[in-house]
Amino acid sequence: MPNVTNPFRGLPSVNQLLESPPLKSLVNSANHNMVVGGVRTFLDRLRTQISSAAEDVHIPTPQELAEKIASWISTEDQPVLRQVINATGVILHTGLGRAPLADEAIGEMNTVARGYASLEIDLKSGKRSQRDLAVRRLICEMTGAASATVVNNNAAATMLTLSAIGAGKEVIVSRGQLVEIGGSYRLPDVMECSGARLREIGTTNKTHLSDYENAINENTGAILRVHPSNFRVVGFTYDVPLPDLVKLGHKHRLPVIDDVGSGALIDFSQFGLTDEPIVFDSIEQGASVVLFSGDKLVGGPQCGIIAGDSEWIEKIKKHPMTRAMRVDKLTLAALAATLRLYRDPEAARQKIPLLLMLSTSLDNLKLRAERLAAQIQGGPLVQSAQPVESTSTLGGGSLPTQYLPTWCVAIEPRDITVDEFARQLRTGTPAIFGRIQNDQLLLDLRTILPRHDVTITDKIGSAKVQNTNGTGITD
Ligand SMILES: *Cc1c(COP(=O)(O)O)cnc(C)c1O
Repeated sequence: MPNVTNPFRGLPSVNQLLESPPLKSLVNSANHNMVVGGVRTFLDRLRTQISSAAEDVHIPTPQELAEKIASWISTEDQPVLRQVINATGVILHTGLGRAPLADEAIGEMNTVARGYASLEIDLKSGKRSQRDLAVRRLICEMTGAASATVVNNNAAATMLTLSAIGAGKEVIVSRGQLVEIGGSYRLPDVMECSGARLREIGTTNKTHLSDYENAINENTGAILRVHPSNFRVVGFTYDVPLPDLVKLGHKHRLPVIDDVGSGALIDFSQFGLTDEPIVFDSIEQGASVVLFSGDKLVGGPQCGIIAGDSEWIEKIKKHPMTRAMRVDKLTLAALAATLRLYRDPEAARQKIPLLLMLSTSLDNLKLRAERLAAQIQGGPLVQSAQPVESTSTLGGGSLPTQYLPTWCVAIEPRDITVDEFARQLRTGTPAIFGRIQNDQLLLDLRTILPRHDVTITDKIGSAKVQNTNGTGITD
């Protein structure tokens, strides 16, 4: 017998709902208009759903409804940018913010964020100074460079350096080094924006010193070398070593700019990762200017570091674009604290999360995977959870062909697809981001900070089927 009475009559009004305890407390803790808007939207959706439902739907009691709306508003009102547990195994995941910061860096940011700071004032003289003094000496110490400065990221560092040194001139680059990094960064486009003219030489797989020599003319402004961070050309290949480029540069009084990309300050072969150029070596071999990111292998905040000869650094700093690319006090504080940790290599390995992740032993990861798997096993959405061996990657455009052995928990969900399971974990609080492989969700222990193991157990060991349609009415 179909229900012929108006199904909406059972629904309370917006004002009635606002008087309910859950929504009243939400109004007190959040914004009144935001809550009213949320209640209206929810009721609208509910009405649409009721009128389009094929059969009678259960109309929640006013109290149930108030609770549902309050929890829905709280979920919807979460910040877009929020904490994520990275269980993907991609260590420098650009989408997840690359390197997590050391506690020391966070502490320094906190200190300068809470009040004023000696950002551009020399406290001894009371006179105006330069903000990059916060990190200049430290960068010089870690790289061997005579001078240095910092901008927003390495893309900015490249753009600025090319503008200051190469605008209106030709900059020579090997065809094997015309890289694209992460879609929005393409070296030829950056070069064009900078006002420098790209002079491509050689071929994709082989470029010789004579190619550079033949390209030099009275319009040449610089020689640029770019580390092909995210790809490798293997087999029949040749690239001119940096010392030879430097020699050629000297002969023609041309600066050699070396974009090393990831910016290894220490030798990463100690973690089983080879082929990553060390910034110190580039400076020692005579590069005029070396460019690298602060949030890749340095393990610090997002920024672009420019280190090299004082004469070129001064020229770069005088360029008007420098002002548009300057970093704030938070970045400088975090970078200074991170660089300071490198003074003691053991401390750096223990305190910089990136280096700690890289140096964690397989035994340790295996133990954590076994424990986590056992704890997740009983979860309501878990069919099975097994510790498995796998491989992590560095990501962030670093060391593309190299993998790190790791241990993961492989989860087969119960009653829902693996995509739906992954979505639920992604949209939970905190969000958990794994990787899907062979219809299983892998949680890679290499990138999970140890303190989050228990969070994951709590979330998956007790995860409930969430409403997927917003209103909480399951049809
Ligand atoms: C990553 C990278 C860049 C871009 O650096 P961002 O800090 O992401 O702007 C430029 N050049 C190379 C070689 C890189 O590896």
